[in-house]
Amino acid sequence: MLQLSGATKIYNGQTVFSNLDLSVSPGQFKVLVGPSGCGKSTLFDGLTGVMALDRGEISWKGHALAHLGRHAAYMQQKDLLLPWFSLMDNALLPARTGKMDMTRMKSRANKLFIRLGLKGYESHHPHEVSGGMRQRCALVRTLMFNRDLILLDEPLSALDAITRRRLQSLLLLLQTEFNKTILMITHDIEEALLLADEVYLLSPQPMAIKERFVLNQPKPRHFNDPDLLKIKEYMLAQLEGEPTCEAG
Ligand code: ADP
Repeated sequence: MLQLSGATKIYNGQTVFSNLDLSVSPGQFKVLVGPSGCGKSTLFDGLTGVMALDRGEISWKGHALAHLGRHAAYMQQKDLLLPWFSLMDNALLPARTGKMDMTRMKSRANKLFIRLGLKGYESHHPHEVSGGMRQRCALVRTLMFNRDLILLDEPLSALDAITRRRLQSLLLLLQTEFNKTILMITHDIEEALLLADEVYLLSPQPMAIKERFVLNQPKPRHFNDPDLLKIKEYMLAQLEGEPTCEAG
């Protein structure tokens, strides 16, 4: 479905990543885990056209593209909600820009508000709700685009444990019930192991795929699975041995 080859990005003479390859198959839930500051968001920005890669080819269903554009919905790490719009109006932005059937889109948004625990907050503004609620609203807005591929950059990072769990189940549902393909960044190894069909463990800058883990365990998964626990320990050991890139 998506094939990225030879992706390279250099900022101020510093190579963030070079010659990076990545592929995603239809219906797959692929998760990137790596140290903070190594270049994961930069990679997503390059894929979606938020910024241009210095080199690299993007192929979508066999066609070469400059960036994924309207083929993917992208939830960036910052919620990017418009402060002067209510939560519902923020969620409906894709409907307005895409000239879609507003009645259907409103009904879809209402269902997602219920699902994501935002019911009753439709007319609140972003500054009136918690960080976790803003993040959930940003997730609703991402889902409103109704694209086959969803790119999520740390979508659950600002949420408390219970909400996080609920939304992890929702993400699984998107894959299994709605047949979405998901490429997600997280720094939470447990989250990656609960959700992913495949995990890429990334090394610090220049960011590279250090190791690939294919997870065939049926979902929903639980952390009492000894195989998952073993992989978690192994991944932690791999990441602990790495310097972080925050300073650089
Ligand atoms: P991650 O998502 O893995 O935490 P980022 O992709 O946000 O990491 O950042 C990777 C590196 O690229 C960092 O060293 C950061 O300082 C640098 N970087 C990101 N955006 C810019 C920019 N617009 N200009 C210069 N450097 C940038």
